[in-house]
Amino acid sequence: MDIYSGPVFDMARQQFGIVADHLAIPDNERGRLLYPKRAVAVAIPVNMDDGRTRIFTGYRVQHHLTLGPTKGGTRFAPRLELGEVAALAVWMSWKCALVGLPYGGAKGGVACDPRALSKRELEAVSRRYMQEMIPFVGPHTDIMAPDMGTNEQVMAWFMDTYSMFQGHAVAEIVTGKPVAVGGTVGRREATGRGIAYLVARALETVGLKSVEATAIVQGFGNVGSVAAATLARRMGVKVIGLADHTAAYYDPNGLPLDAIAAHAGAYGGVLAGWSKEASIDANTLLTQPCTVLVPAAVEQVITEKNAGQLKCRILAEGANGPTTPGADAILNRRQDEIFVIPDILCNSGGVIVSYFEWVQDLQQLFWTETEVNHRLEQILETAFRQVARRGRNDGVPNRIAAMALGVEKVRAGKQLRGLFP
Ligand code: NAD
Repeated sequence: MDIYSGPVFDMARQQFGIVADHLAIPDNERGRLLYPKRAVAVAIPVNMDDGRTRIFTGYRVQHHLTLGPTKGGTRFAPRLELGEVAALAVWMSWKCALVGLPYGGAKGGVACDPRALSKRELEAVSRRYMQEMIPFVGPHTDIMAPDMGTNEQVMAWFMDTYSMFQGHAVAEIVTGKPVAVGGTVGRREATGRGIAYLVARALETVGLKSVEATAIVQGFGNVGSVAAATLARRMGVKVIGLADHTAAYYDPNGLPLDAIAAHAGAYGGVLAGWSKEASIDANTLLTQPCTVLVPAAVEQVITEKNAGQLKCRILAEGANGPTTPGADAILNRRQDEIFVIPDILCNSGGVIVSYFEWVQDLQQLFWTETEVNHRLEQILETAFRQVARRGRNDGVPNRIAAMALGVEKVRAGKQLRGLFP
């Protein structure tokens, strides 16, 4: 299916090929497992504040419908393309299967720069996007969530738009909503908290103490900011590097997270302008010595160019697809082994708690934050152990082990259901 192209989909295809070879999946089953079931592209006309009418392009890709509805985030980003959205949907499938959620993967988004839109324009883009998607989504068909460039407010607009067309409140159409409109406590923090939990387990595995560990975090949005704060506050890890798309900072003695968060809060969520002295080149930051490196922003930041120079002991992939297959090959060859917590495990806390939100909305029975966090940790613990065991048994890196577990579950579902008609 050549409608899926571009570097990010190529990467998902390549990774799948490696795992399919490892699992000895016959060629005639591979296409059915890899290619998305549905892809929707829509034109989103919006009246801008300056009087023009602009057309934005929106996408939704539903990867497989074998094990339940599809589930996935919504990305608002200037150069969003179908191939990228499809890759994210595919990864979401392996992730949901790995952690045992009854979903196929999906992903969607709008090619727009949310920071360049006024609040009214952002609301118009969000509402019209959801309205265009109504024929293709539903609480038992495809459930949306936030991703880069979207947040709780956008999810509230999605929920409201869908509900207005149904004639009653349908909270279970999206997750990552504000608690006041049916969201769950603990969802906003879930991805970052999950990363911190898994980093703690990885530190134990490699025999290091968290209070002696340092961390560099790329990305200071939902995922990166919570991961950094949880690593520092709950585990005593010293955060020595932080970056976003506007600035990068490094201080081997530790960065003052509260002051930086306050600065970002006051300046539209960005790090630029906080300090001149602590500034560092964004690429150089990734190769500074640290115990834990957390890429929590965009795809393809650990590449063949820098994989040989990483000086971390643990690579905790908060972002989706931060490490290219070429970089993986270099990391796997390195003698000074880097413990990789692969993305589909590392950032799975987000979709796990999204699943809890959906379950609570369907049941109209809400849990406490302690219950949410406890159940989250139980699922992460099981998945962490399964990946470690599979890696040991098969003699493969953690990424292949994690993907093998996910792909196998989807494949088993397809085989048992058979091919219709
Ligand atoms: P966000 O929009 O809240 O934040 C994104 C951050 O990345 C911002 O700080 C931005 O400045 C930074 N960034 C963007 N481009 C960058 C670049 N080139 N270099 C450095 N920093 C850059 O997004 P988010 O929700 O935190 O998502 C971050 C990553 O985590 C994405 O890969 C997303 O798919 C993944 N993820 C998110 C969730 C979730 O629950 N939000 C769950 C799982 C995975």
